[in-house]
Amino acid sequence: MYRVINKQALFKRLFLYFLPLTLIGILIGAPFVLLFIGSISLLLWHYHQLYRLSDWLLNQRSFNPPEGEGAWEQIFEGIYHLQHRNRKKRNELAELIRRFREGAEAVPDAVVVLQQDLSIVWCNQLALKVLGLQWPTDHGQRLDNLIRDPKFVKYMQGQKFDEPLELDSGHVSEQILEFRVMPYAEQLMMVVRDITRLKQLEQMRKDFVANVSHELRTPLTVITGYLEMLDSDNLPPPSMWNKAHFTMIEQCKRMDSLVNQLLSLSRIESARKQDKDKPVDVPAMLSLIETEAKSLNQDKHHQLTFNVDKSLDIVGAADELRSAFSNLVFNAIHYTKSNGHVEVNWQYDKDGKPRFSVIDNGDGIAPEHIHRLTERFYRVDKARSRKTGGSGLGLAITKHVLTRHDSTLEISSTLGEGSCFSFAFSKNKLAFMTTNESHKTVI
Ligand code: ADP
Repeated sequence: MYRVINKQALFKRLFLYFLPLTLIGILIGAPFVLLFIGSISLLLWHYHQLYRLSDWLLNQRSFNPPEGEGAWEQIFEGIYHLQHRNRKKRNELAELIRRFREGAEAVPDAVVVLQQDLSIVWCNQLALKVLGLQWPTDHGQRLDNLIRDPKFVKYMQGQKFDEPLELDSGHVSEQILEFRVMPYAEQLMMVVRDITRLKQLEQMRKDFVANVSHELRTPLTVITGYLEMLDSDNLPPPSMWNKAHFTMIEQCKRMDSLVNQLLSLSRIESARKQDKDKPVDVPAMLSLIETEAKSLNQDKHHQLTFNVDKSLDIVGAADELRSAFSNLVFNAIHYTKSNGHVEVNWQYDKDGKPRFSVIDNGDGIAPEHIHRLTERFYRVDKARSRKTGGSGLGLAITKHVLTRHDSTLEISSTLGEGSCFSFAFSKNKLAFMTTNESHKTVI
C-alpha cells in the first residue's frame, strides 16, 4: 500500500522549508531576498521533477516510473501502481479475447465478426476456407464487396436478420451455405453453415415420398378401375373379366414386391452391423441363383457363364448377400438384349480379395446416370424398367447390403457396349470352412 499525500502534510513541508529561511533572513537582515531565492529554488526543483515525469511518459520505454523525491515520490508511486493495475487488466482482457477466439475456432461453422458498416473485424479459420476470405488482407474490407452475390448484398444491406439466408457457395461448387447474422454490442456476428448434406437429404426424402406414391398409384388405379366396373349396372362380358382378373393379380404382385423391397431396405438400413453374420456358402448360393437366372433367361436366350471358385466362402448375413448377388445377375439379364452374353465371376482378385462381378454386353449406361443408380427408385429408362418389373430399388438394396459388409459397388459401363457391376470383400471377411458343413448358411 502506498502513502497518500494530504493537505496537512503538504503545508507542514512548506512550513518546515520556509521557516528556517525566514529565521536566517531575519538574522542576516535580508529575509525577503532569502524567501525569494528559496521560492525560485523550490519552483526549479518542481520543474525538474515535472521534466523527469514527462520524459518518462513520452520518451522512455521502461515500465516503471523514475524514483520520485519529496512529495513527487507518492505521485510516481501512484503512477507505478496504476500501471500495474492496467497491465493486469490488459492481460486479463487479452486472455478473454484469446479464449473467445479459441472457442470460435472450435465452432464447426465459419464465424465472421463485422462492424455495422459490414467491414470485417475478425474471422475464424473455417471462414477463410468456406468463404474464400484472406487474412489479414481482408481485415477492414466490407464483406459485401468480397461476396458479390446480389442476394447476399441485399440481405446484408437490408439488415433484416430474422430469417437465415441460403445461398449457393460461389467458392466450392454444389455447396449450399446458410448465413445467420446476430447483432451484438454494436457489431454483427455472422455464422455460416454448410447445409449441402441437409438439403440433399431433404430432397431425397421428398423424392422418396413422391416416388413411393407414384409407384403405388398405378397398380391401385388399375385395381380400383376394375372394381368400379364391378359396381356398375352394365357389367362387361365374361371374356373381359379374364383380362381384368389377370391384370389385377399382376398389379397386386407388383405392389406386393414393391412393399417387400421397401421393407427389406428399411430392415437392412436399421440392422446393426455384424448382427447376423455367419459363414456363408457363397458357391452354393450362386448355384441357386444360376438356376433362377436360367429360368429368367428362357425368353432372352443369353449365353450365361458362371465362373465360381468353389472354395470361396465369406462371413456375412446370408439373406442380404443373396439379394445383393442376385440383383446384379437378374439386372444383367433384364437389361441385355436377347442373345447377349452375361458372365458371372466369384473369385479372388489380384489383391487376394474375394470379388464378385457381373459383366454383360447389354444396353450400357450413360456416364451421367452411373452415380445415381443406387438412389431409391432411380431408373435410367422408367418405362423400360417398369416393363421388366423393376422398381428402381434393387441397386439401393445392393448398396446398403454392401455397406453393411464393408464393401462398395463398383460400376463401369459404356453405352451400347455393356456394363460391369462388381464388388470385393476385405480379406478379413473370408470364412475358412472346415469339413463341418452345418456351419454354412445358404439361402
Ligand atoms: P430396377 O428394379 O429398375 O432394375 P435397379 O435399382 O436394380 O432397379 O436398377 C436401377 C437402374 O439401373 C435400372 O432401372 C436400369 O436402368 C439400370 N441398370 C441396372 N443394371 C443394369 C445393367 N446391367 N445394364 C444396364 N442398365 C442397368
